[in-house]
Amino acid sequence: MTAASDPATSADQPVGLLPADRCGVEVRDLSKRYGDTVALDRLSVSARPGEVLGVAGPNGAGKTTMIKILADEVAADSGEVLIDGEPWTPSIRARGIAVVHQEPQLFPNLTVAENLLVGRERRRVLIHGPNGDERALMEDLGIARFADHRLGSVPLAVQQRTEIARALADEPRILLFDEPNSALTEEESDDLFRRIHRLAESGHVVILVSHRLSELVAHTDRVAIVVDGRCTTVLDGAHLTEDRIARELVVGARGEGRSGASPAETDGGVLVALEGWAHGRGRFGGVELDVREREVVAVVGVEGSGARELVRSVAGFEGATGRLTVAGETGRAAARRTAYVSADRQMSLFPNLTVAENIVARLDREIASRAGVLRRGRAVALGQDARDRFGIKTGTVTAPIGSLSGGNQQKVAIAAAIVQRPAALVLEEPTRGVDVGSKAEIYGLLRRYADDGNAVLMFCTEDAEVFEAADRVHVVSRGSVSPAIRVGDHADVESLAGELARLEEHGARRPQPPIDGSAP
Ligand code: ADP
Repeated sequence: MTAASDPATSADQPVGLLPADRCGVEVRDLSKRYGDTVALDRLSVSARPGEVLGVAGPNGAGKTTMIKILADEVAADSGEVLIDGEPWTPSIRARGIAVVHQEPQLFPNLTVAENLLVGRERRRVLIHGPNGDERALMEDLGIARFADHRLGSVPLAVQQRTEIARALADEPRILLFDEPNSALTEEESDDLFRRIHRLAESGHVVILVSHRLSELVAHTDRVAIVVDGRCTTVLDGAHLTEDRIARELVVGARGEGRSGASPAETDGGVLVALEGWAHGRGRFGGVELDVREREVVAVVGVEGSGARELVRSVAGFEGATGRLTVAGETGRAAARRTAYVSADRQMSLFPNLTVAENIVARLDREIASRAGVLRRGRAVALGQDARDRFGIKTGTVTAPIGSLSGGNQQKVAIAAAIVQRPAALVLEEPTRGVDVGSKAEIYGLLRRYADDGNAVLMFCTEDAEVFEAADRVHVVSRGSVSPAIRVGDHADVESLAGELARLEEHGARRPQPPIDGSAP
Protein backbone atom coordinates (compact mmCIF):
# COMPACT_ATOMS: atom_id res chain seq x y z
CA MET A 1 0.00 0.00 0.00
CA THR A 2 1.36 3.45 -0.72
CA ALA A 3 1.28 6.54 1.41
CA ALA A 4 -1.83 8.30 0.17
CA SER A 5 -0.53 11.53 1.60
CA ASP A 6 2.82 11.78 0.20
CA PRO A 7 3.56 11.59 -3.46
CA ALA A 8 7.16 12.51 -2.65
CA THR A 9 7.64 9.26 -0.79
CA SER A 10 10.00 7.19 -2.90
CA ALA A 11 9.42 3.56 -3.71
CA ASP A 12 12.09 2.31 -1.29
CA GLN A 13 10.94 4.58 1.51
CA PRO A 14 8.87 2.69 4.13
CA VAL A 15 5.22 3.73 4.23
CA GLY A 16 4.81 6.35 6.92
CA LEU A 17 8.17 8.08 6.52
CA LEU A 18 8.55 11.50 5.00
CA PRO A 19 11.65 12.40 3.00
CA ALA A 20 14.29 12.98 5.69
CA ASP A 21 14.70 16.64 6.54
CA ARG A 22 16.23 16.02 9.94
CA CYS A 23 13.39 17.85 11.61
CA GLY A 24 10.93 16.34 14.03
CA VAL A 25 10.50 12.73 15.03
CA GLU A 26 11.36 9.85 12.76
CA VAL A 27 10.57 6.30 13.83
CA ARG A 28 12.35 3.73 11.65
CA ASP A 29 11.64 0.00 11.54
CA LEU A 30 10.67 -0.20 15.18
CA SER A 31 9.95 -3.75 16.37
CA LYS A 32 8.79 -4.98 19.74
CA ARG A 33 7.59 -8.35 20.99
CA TYR A 34 5.99 -9.29 24.27
CA GLY A 35 6.64 -13.03 24.48
CA ASP A 36 4.89 -14.47 21.43
CA THR A 37 2.93 -11.28 20.77
CA VAL A 38 4.30 -9.01 18.07
CA ALA A 39 3.34 -5.52 19.25
CA LEU A 40 5.37 -3.63 16.62
CA ASP A 41 6.57 -5.08 13.34
CA ARG A 42 9.05 -2.69 11.69
CA LEU A 43 6.86 0.34 12.23
CA SER A 44 8.04 3.48 10.47
CA VAL A 45 6.43 6.89 10.75
CA SER A 46 7.52 10.52 10.93
CA ALA A 47 6.06 13.63 12.52
CA ARG A 48 7.13 17.15 11.64
CA PRO A 49 7.21 20.20 13.86
CA GLY A 50 4.20 22.41 13.25
CA GLU A 51 1.80 19.58 12.54
CA VAL A 52 -0.45 17.30 14.50
CA LEU A 53 0.11 13.70 13.43
CA GLY A 54 -2.86 11.49 14.19
CA VAL A 55 -2.40 7.78 14.78
CA ALA A 56 -5.34 5.43 14.29
CA GLY A 57 -5.48 1.67 14.50
CA PRO A 58 -7.60 -1.16 15.80
CA ASN A 59 -7.10 -2.28 19.36
CA GLY A 60 -3.88 -4.14 19.88
CA ALA A 61 -2.34 -2.58 16.75
CA GLY A 62 0.67 -1.30 18.69
CA LYS A 63 -0.17 2.41 19.06
CA THR A 64 0.43 2.55 22.80
CA THR A 65 3.61 0.52 22.48
CA MET A 66 4.92 3.07 19.98
CA ILE A 67 4.07 5.94 22.36
CA LYS A 68 5.73 4.12 25.26
CA ILE A 69 8.90 3.55 23.27
CA LEU A 70 9.03 7.22 22.27
CA ALA A 71 8.51 8.18 25.90
CA ASP A 72 11.26 5.76 27.01
CA GLU A 73 8.88 3.75 29.13
CA VAL A 74 9.51 0.58 27.16
CA ALA A 75 12.59 -0.48 25.18
CA ALA A 76 12.27 -1.47 21.53
CA ASP A 77 13.78 -4.77 20.37
CA SER A 78 15.13 -3.17 17.20
CA GLY A 79 14.78 -0.11 15.00
CA GLU A 80 15.62 3.48 15.72
CA VAL A 81 14.08 6.77 16.70
CA LEU A 82 15.63 9.98 15.38
CA ILE A 83 14.82 13.34 16.91
CA ASP A 84 15.81 16.18 14.60
CA GLY A 85 18.08 13.72 12.84
CA GLU A 86 19.88 12.63 16.00
CA PRO A 87 19.47 9.15 17.41
CA TRP A 88 17.21 9.10 20.41
CA THR A 89 19.02 9.17 23.78
CA PRO A 90 17.83 9.69 27.35
CA SER A 91 19.23 13.23 27.27
CA ILE A 92 16.90 14.01 24.38
CA ARG A 93 14.03 12.70 26.47
CA ALA A 94 15.12 15.10 29.19
CA ARG A 95 15.10 17.91 26.59
CA GLY A 96 11.43 17.56 26.18
CA ILE A 97 9.21 14.68 25.32
CA ALA A 98 6.05 14.58 27.38
CA VAL A 99 3.32 12.02 27.22
CA VAL A 100 -0.33 12.08 28.21
CA HIS A 101 -1.43 8.52 28.77
CA GLN A 102 -4.79 7.03 28.13
CA GLU A 103 -4.97 6.12 31.80
CA PRO A 104 -3.40 8.76 34.02
CA GLN A 105 -0.07 7.58 35.42
CA LEU A 106 0.00 9.69 38.54
CA PHE A 107 0.23 9.32 42.32
CA PRO A 108 -3.17 8.75 43.91
CA ASN A 109 -1.90 9.66 47.39
CA LEU A 110 -0.65 13.10 46.38
CA THR A 111 -2.84 16.11 45.73
CA VAL A 112 -3.63 17.35 42.24
CA ALA A 113 -1.13 20.22 42.64
CA GLU A 114 1.57 17.93 43.98
CA ASN A 115 1.05 15.62 41.05
CA LEU A 116 1.65 18.54 38.75
CA LEU A 117 4.97 19.31 40.44
CA VAL A 118 6.43 16.06 41.67
CA GLY A 119 9.57 14.91 39.91
CA ARG A 120 9.49 17.83 37.44
CA GLU A 121 11.13 20.67 39.26
CA ARG A 122 14.09 19.63 41.26
CA ARG A 123 15.02 23.05 42.57
CA ARG A 124 11.64 23.87 43.94
CA VAL A 125 10.33 21.91 46.89
CA LEU A 126 6.78 20.70 46.77
CA ILE A 127 5.96 22.82 49.77
CA HIS A 128 6.18 26.04 47.71
CA GLY A 129 3.29 24.86 45.65
CA PRO A 130 2.59 25.72 42.02
CA ASN A 131 3.94 28.96 40.52
CA GLY A 132 1.85 31.49 38.61
CA ASP A 133 2.09 29.72 35.25
CA GLU A 134 1.17 26.40 36.77
CA ARG A 135 -1.76 27.92 38.58
CA ALA A 136 -2.97 29.52 35.36
CA LEU A 137 -2.63 26.17 33.63
CA MET A 138 -4.75 24.51 36.31
CA GLU A 139 -7.31 27.28 35.98
CA ASP A 140 -7.41 26.83 32.21
CA LEU A 141 -7.90 23.12 32.54
CA GLY A 142 -10.58 23.58 35.19
CA ILE A 143 -8.73 21.69 37.91
CA ALA A 144 -7.65 24.60 40.13
CA ARG A 145 -10.46 23.99 42.58
CA PHE A 146 -9.23 20.44 43.05
CA ALA A 147 -5.60 21.54 43.62
CA ASP A 148 -5.57 20.39 47.24
CA HIS A 149 -7.66 17.27 46.76
CA ARG A 150 -6.01 13.89 46.85
CA LEU A 151 -5.81 12.64 43.28
CA GLY A 152 -7.31 9.28 44.21
CA SER A 153 -10.46 11.03 45.41
CA VAL A 154 -11.21 13.12 42.30
CA PRO A 155 -13.13 12.00 39.20
CA LEU A 156 -11.26 10.36 36.34
CA ALA A 157 -11.79 13.44 34.15
CA VAL A 158 -9.91 15.57 36.70
CA GLN A 159 -7.14 12.97 36.88
CA GLN A 160 -6.86 13.02 33.12
CA ARG A 161 -6.69 16.81 33.06
CA THR A 162 -4.02 16.70 35.76
CA GLU A 163 -1.96 14.45 33.53
CA ILE A 164 -2.47 16.89 30.65
CA ALA A 165 -1.42 19.80 32.87
CA ARG A 166 1.67 17.91 33.92
CA ALA A 167 2.67 17.28 30.32
CA LEU A 168 2.01 20.87 29.24
CA ALA A 169 3.71 22.45 32.25
CA ASP A 170 7.15 21.46 31.03
CA GLU A 171 6.60 23.06 27.66
CA PRO A 172 8.14 20.07 25.95
CA ARG A 173 9.04 20.16 22.26
CA ILE A 174 7.42 16.82 21.55
CA LEU A 175 4.02 15.93 22.93
CA LEU A 176 2.53 12.49 22.75
CA PHE A 177 -1.17 12.15 23.47
CA ASP A 178 -2.57 8.64 23.84
CA GLU A 179 -6.35 9.05 23.74
CA PRO A 180 -6.04 12.00 26.12
CA ASN A 181 -9.70 12.94 26.25
CA SER A 182 -11.50 9.65 26.81
CA ALA A 183 -12.84 10.99 30.11
CA LEU A 184 -13.41 14.61 29.00
CA THR A 185 -16.64 16.26 27.97
CA GLU A 186 -16.96 17.62 24.45
CA GLU A 187 -16.29 21.14 25.68
CA GLU A 188 -13.22 20.08 27.64
CA SER A 189 -11.98 18.14 24.62
CA ASP A 190 -12.43 21.21 22.41
CA ASP A 191 -10.35 23.19 24.85
CA LEU A 192 -7.66 20.53 24.82
CA PHE A 193 -7.61 20.54 21.03
CA ARG A 194 -7.29 24.33 20.93
CA ARG A 195 -4.18 23.92 23.08
CA ILE A 196 -2.90 21.15 20.88
CA HIS A 197 -3.30 23.34 17.77
CA ARG A 198 -1.51 26.22 19.46
CA LEU A 199 1.35 23.91 20.41
CA ALA A 200 1.65 22.66 16.85
CA GLU A 201 1.48 26.18 15.41
CA SER A 202 4.31 27.27 17.67
CA GLY A 203 6.58 24.56 16.26
CA HIS A 204 6.01 21.64 18.59
CA VAL A 205 5.74 18.09 17.33
CA VAL A 206 2.39 16.66 18.37
CA ILE A 207 1.36 13.04 18.01
CA LEU A 208 -2.23 12.20 18.86
CA VAL A 209 -3.53 8.65 19.17
CA SER A 210 -7.30 8.58 18.91
CA HIS A 211 -10.07 6.18 18.00
CA ARG A 212 -12.54 9.00 17.38
CA LEU A 213 -12.54 9.46 13.65
CA SER A 214 -14.25 12.84 13.69
CA GLU A 215 -11.57 14.09 16.02
CA LEU A 216 -8.77 12.83 13.82
CA VAL A 217 -10.30 14.54 10.81
CA ALA A 218 -10.98 17.81 12.64
CA HIS A 219 -7.78 18.11 14.63
CA THR A 220 -4.89 16.48 12.83
CA ASP A 221 -2.95 17.25 9.66
CA ARG A 222 -2.13 13.68 8.72
CA VAL A 223 -3.26 10.33 10.07
CA ALA A 224 -0.98 7.30 10.18
CA ILE A 225 -2.94 4.05 10.08
CA VAL A 226 -1.28 1.41 12.24
CA VAL A 227 -2.40 -2.19 11.83
CA ASP A 228 -0.67 -5.27 13.21
CA GLY A 229 2.32 -3.25 14.37
CA ARG A 230 2.96 -1.56 11.03
CA CYS A 231 2.04 1.73 9.44
CA THR A 232 -0.05 0.67 6.46
CA THR A 233 -0.75 4.13 5.06
CA VAL A 234 -0.79 7.83 5.91
CA LEU A 235 -3.80 9.92 4.98
CA ASP A 236 -3.95 13.65 4.51
CA GLY A 237 -5.62 16.39 2.46
CA ALA A 238 -8.61 15.13 0.51
CA HIS A 239 -7.86 11.55 1.67
CA LEU A 240 -8.34 12.48 5.30
CA THR A 241 -12.02 11.63 5.79
CA GLU A 242 -13.83 9.53 8.40
CA ASP A 243 -14.92 7.07 5.73
CA ARG A 244 -11.43 6.59 4.42
CA ILE A 245 -9.94 6.08 7.90
CA ALA A 246 -12.69 3.60 8.76
CA ARG A 247 -12.03 1.75 5.52
CA GLU A 248 -8.28 1.60 6.11
CA LEU A 249 -8.83 0.30 9.64
CA VAL A 250 -11.17 -2.38 8.44
CA VAL A 251 -8.95 -3.39 5.53
CA GLY A 252 -6.18 -3.89 8.06
CA ALA A 253 -8.38 -5.68 10.57
CA ARG A 254 -9.35 -8.19 7.89
CA GLY A 255 -5.74 -9.36 7.86
CA GLU A 256 -3.43 -10.05 4.98
CA GLY A 257 -3.96 -13.78 4.79
CA ARG A 258 -7.69 -13.48 4.26
CA SER A 259 -7.81 -11.69 0.94
CA GLY A 260 -10.93 -13.22 -0.48
CA ALA A 261 -10.11 -16.75 0.63
CA SER A 262 -13.00 -17.74 2.79
CA PRO A 263 -12.12 -20.24 5.48
CA ALA A 264 -14.97 -22.27 3.99
CA GLU A 265 -12.47 -23.18 1.31
CA THR A 266 -9.81 -24.09 3.82
CA ASP A 267 -9.79 -27.30 5.76
CA GLY A 268 -11.36 -25.78 8.89
CA GLY A 269 -13.92 -28.26 10.23
CA VAL A 270 -17.62 -27.46 10.54
CA LEU A 271 -18.30 -26.12 14.04
CA VAL A 272 -21.96 -25.21 13.72
CA ALA A 273 -24.33 -27.18 11.48
CA LEU A 274 -28.07 -26.75 10.97
CA GLU A 275 -29.90 -29.54 9.17
CA GLY A 276 -33.60 -29.48 8.35
CA TRP A 277 -33.86 -26.61 10.83
CA ALA A 278 -37.35 -25.08 11.16
CA HIS A 279 -38.83 -22.43 13.43
CA GLY A 280 -41.38 -23.62 15.99
CA ARG A 281 -43.85 -20.94 14.88
CA GLY A 282 -43.09 -21.12 11.18
CA ARG A 283 -40.86 -18.08 10.71
CA PHE A 284 -38.33 -20.13 8.71
CA GLY A 285 -37.96 -23.68 7.56
CA GLY A 286 -35.83 -26.17 5.66
CA VAL A 287 -32.61 -24.47 6.69
CA GLU A 288 -29.28 -26.07 5.85
CA LEU A 289 -26.41 -23.89 7.03
CA ASP A 290 -22.96 -24.30 8.47
CA VAL A 291 -20.24 -22.21 10.06
CA ARG A 292 -16.70 -23.47 10.02
CA GLU A 293 -13.83 -22.99 12.41
CA ARG A 294 -12.32 -19.51 12.10
CA GLU A 295 -15.31 -18.29 10.12
CA VAL A 296 -17.69 -15.36 10.59
CA VAL A 297 -21.07 -15.96 8.92
CA ALA A 298 -23.73 -13.26 8.65
CA VAL A 299 -27.47 -13.73 8.21
CA VAL A 300 -29.45 -10.80 6.79
CA GLY A 301 -33.09 -10.15 6.03
CA VAL A 302 -35.76 -7.55 6.72
CA GLU A 303 -37.75 -7.70 9.96
CA GLY A 304 -40.29 -10.46 9.67
CA SER A 305 -38.20 -12.41 7.14
CA GLY A 306 -37.15 -14.89 9.82
CA ALA A 307 -33.47 -13.90 9.72
CA ARG A 308 -33.35 -12.60 13.28
CA GLU A 309 -35.30 -15.59 14.61
CA LEU A 310 -32.98 -17.98 12.76
CA VAL A 311 -29.91 -16.60 14.50
CA ARG A 312 -31.64 -16.47 17.89
CA SER A 313 -32.76 -20.09 17.51
CA VAL A 314 -29.15 -21.28 17.29
CA ALA A 315 -28.53 -19.91 20.78
CA GLY A 316 -31.73 -21.51 22.04
CA PHE A 317 -33.72 -18.28 22.28
CA GLU A 318 -36.37 -19.36 19.77
CA GLY A 319 -37.97 -22.78 19.60
CA ALA A 320 -36.93 -24.79 16.52
CA THR A 321 -36.87 -28.35 15.28
CA GLY A 322 -34.33 -30.22 13.18
CA ARG A 323 -30.72 -30.97 13.97
CA LEU A 324 -28.29 -28.46 15.47
CA THR A 325 -24.69 -29.54 15.98
CA VAL A 326 -22.13 -27.34 17.73
CA ALA A 327 -18.58 -28.60 18.20
CA GLY A 328 -19.79 -32.18 17.81
CA GLU A 329 -22.57 -31.84 20.40
CA THR A 330 -26.26 -31.97 19.59
CA GLY A 331 -29.46 -30.99 21.37
CA ARG A 332 -29.20 -29.03 24.63
CA ALA A 333 -25.48 -29.73 24.87
CA ALA A 334 -25.06 -27.95 21.52
CA ALA A 335 -26.80 -24.81 22.77
CA ARG A 336 -24.49 -24.89 25.81
CA ARG A 337 -21.45 -24.62 23.52
CA THR A 338 -22.76 -21.27 22.21
CA ALA A 339 -22.84 -17.86 23.87
CA TYR A 340 -25.31 -15.22 22.81
CA VAL A 341 -25.09 -11.44 22.67
CA SER A 342 -28.43 -9.68 22.31
CA ALA A 343 -29.05 -6.66 20.08
CA ASP A 344 -30.29 -4.87 23.17
CA ARG A 345 -27.41 -4.16 25.53
CA GLN A 346 -29.85 -3.90 28.40
CA MET A 347 -30.51 -7.62 27.89
CA SER A 348 -26.82 -8.55 27.90
CA LEU A 349 -25.60 -6.34 30.73
CA PHE A 350 -26.49 -5.83 34.37
CA PRO A 351 -26.93 -2.05 34.75
CA ASN A 352 -26.29 -2.10 38.50
CA LEU A 353 -22.99 -3.95 38.31
CA THR A 354 -19.44 -2.79 37.60
CA VAL A 355 -17.51 -3.46 34.41
CA ALA A 356 -15.63 -6.39 36.01
CA GLU A 357 -18.77 -7.88 37.54
CA ASN A 358 -20.49 -7.76 34.17
CA ILE A 359 -17.58 -9.52 32.49
CA VAL A 360 -17.47 -12.38 35.00
CA ALA A 361 -21.16 -12.53 35.88
CA ARG A 362 -21.67 -15.87 34.15
CA LEU A 363 -18.47 -17.52 35.36
CA ASP A 364 -19.90 -18.88 38.61
CA ARG A 365 -17.31 -21.58 39.18
CA GLU A 366 -14.29 -19.44 38.52
CA ILE A 367 -15.23 -16.54 40.75
CA ALA A 368 -17.05 -18.19 43.64
CA SER A 369 -15.31 -19.65 46.70
CA ARG A 370 -16.18 -23.19 47.80
CA ALA A 371 -18.83 -21.69 50.02
CA GLY A 372 -20.34 -20.06 46.94
CA VAL A 373 -19.31 -16.52 47.90
CA LEU A 374 -18.05 -14.14 45.18
CA ARG A 375 -14.26 -13.82 45.30
CA ARG A 376 -14.13 -10.14 44.58
CA GLY A 377 -10.36 -9.95 43.99
CA ARG A 378 -10.56 -12.79 41.48
CA ALA A 379 -13.44 -11.07 39.71
CA VAL A 380 -11.49 -7.82 39.44
CA ALA A 381 -8.38 -9.63 38.17
CA LEU A 382 -10.41 -11.47 35.51
CA GLY A 383 -12.12 -8.19 34.64
CA GLN A 384 -8.74 -6.45 34.20
CA ASP A 385 -7.47 -9.26 31.98
CA ALA A 386 -10.58 -9.02 29.85
CA ARG A 387 -10.35 -5.21 29.72
CA ASP A 388 -6.82 -5.45 28.28
CA ARG A 389 -7.60 -8.35 25.98
CA PHE A 390 -10.75 -6.83 24.53
CA GLY A 391 -9.58 -3.21 24.51
CA ILE A 392 -12.35 -1.97 26.79
CA LYS A 393 -11.73 1.68 27.54
CA THR A 394 -12.37 2.31 31.21
CA GLY A 395 -10.18 3.89 33.86
CA THR A 396 -10.95 1.11 36.28
CA VAL A 397 -12.87 -2.12 35.99
CA THR A 398 -14.67 -1.32 39.22
CA ALA A 399 -16.45 1.59 37.49
CA PRO A 400 -20.21 1.20 36.98
CA ILE A 401 -21.02 -0.25 33.56
CA GLY A 402 -23.14 2.83 32.81
CA SER A 403 -20.05 5.07 32.91
CA LEU A 404 -18.73 3.52 29.67
CA SER A 405 -19.48 4.67 26.12
CA GLY A 406 -21.97 2.57 24.16
CA GLY A 407 -19.17 1.00 22.13
CA ASN A 408 -17.27 0.00 25.24
CA GLN A 409 -20.41 -1.37 26.90
CA GLN A 410 -20.90 -3.52 23.82
CA LYS A 411 -17.30 -4.75 24.09
CA VAL A 412 -18.09 -5.73 27.71
CA ALA A 413 -21.18 -7.63 26.54
CA ILE A 414 -19.11 -9.50 23.95
CA ALA A 415 -16.26 -10.08 26.42
CA ALA A 416 -18.74 -11.53 28.93
CA ALA A 417 -19.82 -13.99 26.24
CA ILE A 418 -16.30 -14.90 25.07
CA VAL A 419 -14.90 -15.51 28.57
CA GLN A 420 -17.38 -18.38 28.87
CA ARG A 421 -15.23 -20.05 26.18
CA PRO A 422 -18.05 -20.99 23.80
CA ALA A 423 -17.21 -22.77 20.54
CA ALA A 424 -19.58 -20.43 18.72
CA LEU A 425 -20.61 -16.87 19.39
CA VAL A 426 -24.11 -15.91 18.29
CA LEU A 427 -24.82 -12.18 17.98
CA GLU A 428 -27.71 -9.99 16.96
CA GLU A 429 -26.65 -6.66 15.40
CA PRO A 430 -23.25 -6.64 17.11
CA THR A 431 -22.64 -2.91 16.62
CA ARG A 432 -26.09 -1.34 16.90
CA GLY A 433 -25.77 2.24 18.14
CA VAL A 434 -21.98 2.10 18.28
CA ASP A 435 -19.61 4.75 16.84
CA VAL A 436 -17.60 3.84 13.75
CA GLY A 437 -14.27 3.57 15.59
CA SER A 438 -15.70 1.10 18.10
CA LYS A 439 -17.36 -0.75 15.24
CA ALA A 440 -14.00 -1.45 13.64
CA GLU A 441 -12.67 -2.55 17.02
CA ILE A 442 -15.59 -4.88 17.59
CA TYR A 443 -15.08 -6.42 14.14
CA GLY A 444 -11.42 -6.92 15.04
CA LEU A 445 -12.44 -8.55 18.31
CA LEU A 446 -14.83 -10.95 16.57
CA ARG A 447 -12.16 -11.74 14.01
CA ARG A 448 -9.58 -12.56 16.69
CA TYR A 449 -12.10 -14.79 18.46
CA ALA A 450 -12.80 -16.63 15.19
CA ASP A 451 -9.08 -16.87 14.41
CA ASP A 452 -8.65 -18.74 17.69
CA GLY A 453 -10.52 -21.65 16.10
CA ASN A 454 -14.09 -20.61 16.89
CA ALA A 455 -17.20 -19.77 14.87
CA VAL A 456 -19.25 -16.56 14.74
CA LEU A 457 -22.85 -16.38 13.52
CA MET A 458 -24.50 -12.98 13.49
CA PHE A 459 -27.67 -11.27 12.38
CA CYS A 460 -26.84 -7.99 10.63
CA THR A 461 -28.99 -5.14 9.40
CA GLU A 462 -26.22 -3.19 7.64
CA ASP A 463 -24.58 -4.23 4.39
CA ALA A 464 -21.39 -2.42 5.42
CA GLU A 465 -21.18 -4.57 8.53
CA VAL A 466 -21.47 -7.74 6.47
CA PHE A 467 -18.81 -6.48 4.09
CA GLU A 468 -16.45 -5.51 6.87
CA ALA A 469 -16.89 -8.36 9.30
CA ALA A 470 -18.18 -11.51 7.62
CA ASP A 471 -16.67 -14.23 5.44
CA ARG A 472 -19.98 -15.51 4.09
CA VAL A 473 -23.58 -14.30 4.23
CA HIS A 474 -27.03 -15.86 3.82
CA VAL A 475 -30.11 -13.86 2.89
CA VAL A 476 -33.38 -14.86 4.53
CA SER A 477 -36.49 -13.89 2.66
CA ARG A 478 -39.97 -14.94 3.80
CA GLY A 479 -38.58 -17.81 5.82
CA SER A 480 -36.37 -19.20 3.08
CA VAL A 481 -32.58 -19.09 3.33
CA SER A 482 -30.38 -18.38 0.29
CA PRO A 483 -27.18 -20.28 -0.40
CA ALA A 484 -24.10 -18.63 1.13
CA ILE A 485 -22.46 -15.76 -0.71
CA ARG A 486 -18.74 -15.21 -0.26
CA VAL A 487 -18.12 -11.66 0.86
CA GLY A 488 -14.57 -11.77 -0.53
CA ASP A 489 -15.99 -12.10 -4.07
CA HIS A 490 -17.18 -8.50 -3.87
CA ALA A 491 -14.79 -5.62 -4.31
CA ASP A 492 -16.93 -3.10 -2.48
CA VAL A 493 -20.01 -2.71 -0.30
CA GLU A 494 -22.13 -1.53 -3.22
CA SER A 495 -21.50 -4.69 -5.21
CA LEU A 496 -22.28 -6.89 -2.20
CA ALA A 497 -25.40 -4.85 -1.37
CA GLY A 498 -26.60 -5.28 -4.97
CA GLU A 499 -26.31 -9.04 -4.74
CA LEU A 500 -28.01 -9.18 -1.34
CA ALA A 501 -30.91 -7.08 -2.65
CA ARG A 502 -31.22 -9.34 -5.71
CA LEU A 503 -31.37 -12.42 -3.50
CA GLU A 504 -33.91 -10.77 -1.28
CA GLU A 505 -36.14 -10.14 -4.29
CA HIS A 506 -35.53 -13.52 -5.79
CA GLY A 507 -36.24 -15.21 -2.46
CA ALA A 508 -39.48 -13.31 -2.09
CA ARG A 509 -40.71 -14.65 -5.41
CA ARG A 510 -39.78 -18.21 -4.52
CA PRO A 511 -42.54 -20.51 -3.32
CA GLN A 512 -42.63 -20.87 0.44
CA PRO A 513 -40.39 -23.66 1.72
CA PRO A 514 -41.88 -26.55 3.61
CA ILE A 515 -42.43 -25.13 7.05
CA ASP A 516 -43.28 -26.86 10.27
CA GLY A 517 -46.26 -25.49 12.13
CA SER A 518 -48.43 -22.57 11.09
CA ALA A 519 -47.78 -20.11 8.29
CA PRO A 520 -45.89 -16.90 9.14
P1 ADP B 1 -2.94 -0.45 20.90
O1 ADP B 1 -2.47 0.69 21.73
O2 ADP B 1 -2.89 -0.18 19.44
O3 ADP B 1 -4.27 -0.97 21.34
P2 ADP B 1 -0.82 -1.91 22.24
O4 ADP B 1 0.44 -1.23 21.88
O5 ADP B 1 -1.40 -1.63 23.58
O6 ADP B 1 -1.90 -1.67 21.10
O7 ADP B 1 -0.62 -3.49 22.14
C1 ADP B 1 -0.04 -4.13 21.02
C2 ADP B 1 -0.01 -5.62 21.30
O8 ADP B 1 0.93 -5.89 22.33
C3 ADP B 1 -1.32 -6.19 21.81
O9 ADP B 1 -1.46 -7.50 21.28
C4 ADP B 1 -1.15 -6.24 23.30
O10 ADP B 1 -1.94 -7.27 23.87
C5 ADP B 1 0.33 -6.53 23.43
N1 ADP B 1 0.89 -5.95 24.64
C6 ADP B 1 0.98 -4.65 24.96
N2 ADP B 1 1.59 -4.47 26.15
C7 ADP B 1 1.87 -5.71 26.60
C8 ADP B 1 2.52 -6.21 27.78
N3 ADP B 1 2.98 -5.39 28.72
N4 ADP B 1 2.64 -7.54 27.91
C9 ADP B 1 2.18 -8.38 26.95
N5 ADP B 1 1.59 -7.97 25.81
C10 ADP B 1 1.44 -6.66 25.63
